Amino acid sequence: MTHPAQPKASHFINGEYVEDTAGTPIPVIYAATGEQIATVYAATPTIVEQALSTAKAAQKEWAKMTGTERGRILRRAADIMRERNHELSVLETYDTGKPLQETLVADATSGADALEYFGGLAASLTGEHIPLGEDWVYTKREALGLCVGIGAWNYPTQIACWKGAPALACGNSMVFKPSETTPLCALKVAEILIEAGAPAGIYNVVQGMGEVGASLVTDPRVDKVSLTGSVPTGKKVYAAAAEGMKHVTMELGGKSPLIIFDDADIDNAVGGAINGNFYSSGQVCSNGTRVFVQKGIKEKFLARLAERTGNAILGDPMDEATSFGPMVTENQMNIVLGYIEKGKAEGARLICGGNRADKDGFFIEPTVFADVTDEMTIAREEIFGPVMSVLDFETEEEVVARANDTEFGLSAGVFTKDFTRAHRVIGNLEAGSCFINSYNDAPVEAPFGGVKASGVGRENSKEAIKHFSQVKSVYVRMGDVEAAF
Ligand code: NDP
Repeated sequence: MTHPAQPKASHFINGEYVEDTAGTPIPVIYAATGEQIATVYAATPTIVEQALSTAKAAQKEWAKMTGTERGRILRRAADIMRERNHELSVLETYDTGKPLQETLVADATSGADALEYFGGLAASLTGEHIPLGEDWVYTKREALGLCVGIGAWNYPTQIACWKGAPALACGNSMVFKPSETTPLCALKVAEILIEAGAPAGIYNVVQGMGEVGASLVTDPRVDKVSLTGSVPTGKKVYAAAAEGMKHVTMELGGKSPLIIFDDADIDNAVGGAINGNFYSSGQVCSNGTRVFVQKGIKEKFLARLAERTGNAILGDPMDEATSFGPMVTENQMNIVLGYIEKGKAEGARLICGGNRADKDGFFIEPTVFADVTDEMTIAREEIFGPVMSVLDFETEEEVVARANDTEFGLSAGVFTKDFTRAHRVIGNLEAGSCFINSYNDAPVEAPFGGVKASGVGRENSKEAIKHFSQVKSVYVRMGDVEAAF
């Protein structure tokens, strides 16, 4: 019998599901059991051509619609996503292995928020009137054209919407390539947009590995590339896009600092560290994986952290009581286990976890290392798994310098009751998305993105509009033209 997660076909182009079994088969493995639940096929050059030519052709008419009309469609799509939240959350769980407890509140709901927010903004995207005596300049905010979205595997519904919603609101069309690891959810986003009344061809999904992504990025018809992925992939995609002088948004990885001062509320700080390391089993780009704890509260913090981490419920992700799921793939599990071994070998003190869980599927116990030092591998490299490094510090000046000593700059957090210090420290940290007495909140109203190697551009908020549109300026002369001859 066909598994309920099996999509009707691999791709979604011009308003319908399209199959081409000549492409490389991509097995979809349910991370909680290791079973294959579906198969899709990587896009062949014919499929890529179909998607790009369709998106190119559909964009002009879409951009001619009023912002109100475009916005209405996006907001309808948001309503449909919310009505189907349970079904979409189950699919997200099959795609990623994340527990339903999370997917019910963080994935289709976040996607719906993006569709609603950018749907609401679509009608207000206007230019300016700039008076120059009798003459004037007016500006128009125009679509970029055909945009390519490429997703990572940790938030397949959310990424498809965070890229699609602002792109479409501005009058662009999109071809979206999910990660080969999680190909299922973006197809639903495409299907829902059609059901909400979107014209065929403005949002297309094609499957495939990096080479399909690369063929999209280098196509001359493409005007913009928005990638969520790792820094090495980001460098390649950015360079390929630069060759064609295309616009880019790069949402890349991090090794973000979470700084906890002596005066912090311990339970809130522990809660922030748990959210910033163990949500989605640590597979979150903005995670605060370097937890700097001021020496005065170190042992108290570690004791409370170990106690609360012991309450994590590992198990069937479809059981809403489960609060901690598996790694997305066996490969990712092995990468993370490799980092845990490095942590042990380099002398970090294991506080809890540290092993593969004794279960089917790709589960790793939530792991905390203390006495981590700045040069250890686990403190320098992005692990993308449930491994928290706790580092000691004494002074504010010292911790800010150490926190900034990394190529990354996605996020940063600080816990303290001293608000003057909180703002000062955040002001001195090199990071794009920051938190005071909290960690990892990502509402659509707030800009999201990194500095340094963590990225270029911002997603969400009004900032995203700037990255999916461009300004045309028009000088209007009322009098005669003066010329030298
Ligand atoms: P990868 O960088 O491996 O892949 C990202 C996407 O790019 C995938 O769809 C991948 O395809 C595709 N790709 C790979 N090579 C190329 C290429 N040469 N040209 C075009 N596309 C290509 O990242 P992961 O999927 O492993 O995701 C984890 C990473 O994503 C982490 O480093 C994490 O920090 C980052 N991330 C960043 C976020 C942010 O917003 N800043 C949010 C979430 C994750 P395929 O994998 O199918 O081969």
